[in-house]
Amino acid sequence: MTSFDMAVAGGGVIGLGVALEAARRGARVVLVSDDGPRASAAAAGMLCPSFEALHFGGRALLKLGTDSLALWDGFAASLAEDPARDLDYRRDGVIALGFPPRALPGEPCTVPDGVEASRALLVPGEGQVDPRRLLPALERACEAAGMERRAGRVSGLVGDAEQAQGVVLEGGESLRAATVVLATGAAPREEAEMVPLRGRALAVAGLPVMPERTLRSPGVYLCPKADGTLYVGATEEERDMPAALDGVWHEASWLMPSLTKGRIVRRFDGVRPGTRDGLPIVRRSSRKKALILALGHHRNGVLLAPLTAKRVADLAGF
Ligand SMILES: Cc1cc2nc3c(=O)[nH]c(=O)nc-3n(C[C@H](O)[C@H](O)[C@H](O)COP(=O)(O)OP(=O)(O)OC[C@H]3O[C@@H](n4cnc5c(N)ncnc54)[C@H](O)[C@@H]3O)c2cc1C
Repeated sequence: MTSFDMAVAGGGVIGLGVALEAARRGARVVLVSDDGPRASAAAAGMLCPSFEALHFGGRALLKLGTDSLALWDGFAASLAEDPARDLDYRRDGVIALGFPPRALPGEPCTVPDGVEASRALLVPGEGQVDPRRLLPALERACEAAGMERRAGRVSGLVGDAEQAQGVVLEGGESLRAATVVLATGAAPREEAEMVPLRGRALAVAGLPVMPERTLRSPGVYLCPKADGTLYVGATEEERDMPAALDGVWHEASWLMPSLTKGRIVRRFDGVRPGTRDGLPIVRRSSRKKALILALGHHRNGVLLAPLTAKRVADLAGF
């Protein structure tokens, strides 16, 4: 049986980030991922701890998000020669529209052209990255760091009731590993309660005016992307509610009326791995030794990926 230092189940932004950090610290890593849809591929890619802490998760999420944001410059630079060009990585601030005064840190600024709002605030240092560029960059970096990859679904663990010693793939292959990491997104798990929350969003092209920065109101966000589209999001659906996207669209077009002059060129659909308290689950399993959970990143897996990667590699002792 092949033997690794770490086996990671799940190839979204969290699994890839974890595998990359461990491989860069010298561990022999295998990542097993099925072909299942990834929330990571549907995400807007905003890096906005202040806004997200208002939404859910409070001070604890603000601390995690701020700590992870501080790692993002280095993380992005380790993935791309020119992160702005290659990943559409931006940290030029995010514009808050219609939030209560003093809800967010920042300075009043001019309301952007074409936006219907009485006041605007620039929240400095926050920004975005494009997950459609980030994920392939992470995959390339993992390969360059020597990570092995297996296509398939992890159906069980090697080991006994006390200790994980690897993963079993559907089809029967076993991969022995000193540490196993579950980064399986919103998939139901025995080890932790997941609260799946579906999110849908749109990409709009051909707009007469494109905002320079991400715009956020309490209900919607609009992220300009380097490919000339505007990402408009997003629904939060506990049950399947496709019509919820109409509400997002209406609210976004009240905020930016020229949106209706564009054309919808892409629809995004992903299931966020939510948790009851809105906080990620990044810890050793309480049931089995050598099993680490990297789950529940909810609305912030892209933002939190560098911090989770570091915490998991520390927990594994690499
Ligand atoms: C519309 C939308 C907008 C979002 N916007 C943002 C944003 O702006 N900023 C931000 O930070 N976050 C955002 N998010 C949240 C972010 O996408 C998630 O937090 C993040 O993608 C979670 O990553 P993950 O790797 O845990 O899960 P995923 O990306 O879902 O990856 C998990 C993978 O594991 C696979 N898998 C499951 N079970 C197994 C198994 N047994 N064996 C092998 N593989 C398995 C799944 O098929 C999947 O491919 C958004 C999400 C949505 C839906």
